[in-house]
Amino acid sequence: MSKKPEEITGSVSRIIPFSCVDGPGNRFVIFLQGCNFSCKNCHNPHTMGICDHCGDCVPGCPSGALFIDSGKVTWNQSICENCDQCIDICPRSSSPMTQLLTVAEVITQLETAVPFLTGITVSGGESTMQLKFIRALFKTIKQRSHLQHLTCLVDSNGYLPVSGWEKLLSVMDGAMIDLKACNNDLHLWLTGRANHRVLDSIDFLYKRQKLTEVRWLAIPEITDTSEELTAISAFLKTTAPEAPLRINAFSNSAVKGQARQWQNMSSERIPLLEAELFTTS
Ligand code: SF4
Ligand code: SF4
Repeated sequence: MSKKPEEITGSVSRIIPFSCVDGPGNRFVIFLQGCNFSCKNCHNPHTMGICDHCGDCVPGCPSGALFIDSGKVTWNQSICENCDQCIDICPRSSSPMTQLLTVAEVITQLETAVPFLTGITVSGGESTMQLKFIRALFKTIKQRSHLQHLTCLVDSNGYLPVSGWEKLLSVMDGAMIDLKACNNDLHLWLTGRANHRVLDSIDFLYKRQKLTEVRWLAIPEITDTSEELTAISAFLKTTAPEAPLRINAFSNSAVKGQARQWQNMSSERIPLLEAELFTTS
């Protein structure tokens, strides 16, 4: 027998009850675990991988909140001090604090924050890898009279094929898509994946009035070259001319690996890049 929408589970890395940086207004944000990109500049690297219960993080927990039970790493949330040492230790870019939550359990948490919210955002990791969970969650929210005023947004790397977006259209208010690079070789180097599906997603969502925002990360001497600016500007003018474009400045403070050595983007340069993007073609 198939499960009811409320019974469908998602692998949840973290929930933030209030955020003003994950879409318009004040939003309840669910970060889902696992990603199909391996971005050199990932700001949530512990959401990329899937835990294999190796146990490496258990002895590193200073509060004894981690233990192995029947071969699986288990997290005692009530004594966790949120120091994040476990996610620094994990060799698989995962987290022992990941929880398998049902739609009903997420809704229970959402209900405590509702009076202060504009909407909810599913983020990650790459949220769309858990399409069934997102669909069930949004559908349940839209069916409940005390929740249906909340806008339901997806924060995505855009790798979901069009056939996947089609399954979300009826329950999703919009999607915010990261455009990492227009040059395919640069995109491949940055993320480990080609960009054709990302470009297709932007095109598809814009034509259906579901493209809430395109996000572009400005990384000095990597994504802010004149060739890349020209390509992004031309693509957006042709494909999504009225879509809001949000430019984020790269910071090396929360990244791992070689990206720690990359220069930070200065806030003074952002308006110049904005001007260049809107005039170049
Ligand atoms: S964040 Fe991780 S390492 Fe820190 S107390 Fe919680 S479970 Fe332990
Ligand atoms: S979170 Fe990482 S280190 Fe901890 S058990 Fe899972 S894979 Fe191993």
